[in-house]
Amino acid sequence: GRAEPSADTVAQAALARLAAAARPAVRAVFNLTGVVLHTNLGRAVLAEAAIDAAVTAMRRTVALEFDLSTGKRGERDSLVRDLLCELTGAEDATVVNNNAAAVLLVLNTLAKGREAIVSRGELIEIGGAFRMPDIMARAGARLVEVGTTNRTHPKDFADAFTERTGLVLKVHTSNYRIEGFTAAVPTRELVAIAREKNVAVVDDLGSGTLIDLTRFGLAHEPTVAEAVAAGADLVTFSGDKLLGGPQAGIVVGRRDLIQKINHNPMKRALRLDKIRLAALEATLALYRDPDRLAERLPTVRHLARPQADILAQAHRIAPMVANALGEAFEVTAEDCASQIGSGALPQATLPSAGVFARPRSEKGAGRALERLAKALREKPVPVVGRISDGALVLDLRCLDDEAAFVANLAPLAGGADALA
Ligand SMILES: *Cc1c(COP(=O)(O)O)cnc(C)c1O
Repeated sequence: GRAEPSADTVAQAALARLAAAARPAVRAVFNLTGVVLHTNLGRAVLAEAAIDAAVTAMRRTVALEFDLSTGKRGERDSLVRDLLCELTGAEDATVVNNNAAAVLLVLNTLAKGREAIVSRGELIEIGGAFRMPDIMARAGARLVEVGTTNRTHPKDFADAFTERTGLVLKVHTSNYRIEGFTAAVPTRELVAIAREKNVAVVDDLGSGTLIDLTRFGLAHEPTVAEAVAAGADLVTFSGDKLLGGPQAGIVVGRRDLIQKINHNPMKRALRLDKIRLAALEATLALYRDPDRLAERLPTVRHLARPQADILAQAHRIAPMVANALGEAFEVTAEDCASQIGSGALPQATLPSAGVFARPRSEKGAGRALERLAKALREKPVPVVGRISDGALVLDLRCLDDEAAFVANLAPLAGGADALA
């Protein structure tokens, strides 16, 4: 029969189980996937100013819906309204739980029991259960599709208006591009058509950036201010994508429409809590000084990081990784390409660099890589990389704390044989 385990072995196993059970479920990880805004890893890392503001909101009572000048009841959204108007040029603004909620609320407010006109080229699925036709149905709006998958013309929109039209929706095709023989109607033109019919144009920008990203060497992504200037009556976008703040959905635009939205009873079910409002305000405030954004806002810092800087870090770290992984892997520092993620500039990649680990033996290489990826995920601070072209790639674009990463590797050294 089998030998009885010693009391010591049993005690060790019990301790290990207890430690695992006591570990929080929300755990910090090293995002070395090369996707800066990774939805599955919580998207934007917040700025220190936003973290401080959120901590204050958690620790203290705050003037959330309380007007300190009059001592009367105030409005929670007024805490960020002025900043949003200043940064986007819009008349008014309101905030909700996320951009999916913003779109749902706008559709429900302006098009419940009415028709919403959308181009066939923009009927997106964002992932999970967010599909534009389904959201329309849940909002109580009847979807009116116009144009074709690749081409939609002004006349397609003009012909679709009826006395039941509630709004025209323009959707940023966040996670795909239609290329080749294509045509879309620019916002400005769409607005001109809709104005004649007295119908609002809603522009769902998705990621939505407040600044021109070309200043950081990225491709141009339409800014919220540009959408407002083009005449969109409402613009919706996320707080935790390119903006780099907490999860939130932001709606800016015409005051009368924003007021209607705020009077919709669903608004209460979708509102932001004080912690995120505090973090959002502090994040927005950073945009008043765009020149210092790369230094203060992690999302922008990560996106703007020069490849040479990342490659130098990869060369510094590679020997430590090689040491931790042992003989079974060849470890190198190499160029690679990062993605922005979360539907921002889906085609664009950023020149980056990382540490590559390749199994020395071709036999069972695939399984060796899977085992290595798993071992890294089991580190005290899990390390999440990506497997591509026969290598485990640790893209260092988002690695802020190099010392912590190296210290976290150490326990792997003892177990390196298990990886072979
Ligand atoms: C991401 C996205 C949404 C959903 O935003 P969340 O903040 O994830 O709720 C809606 N519309 C577009 C175009 C998007 O890109």
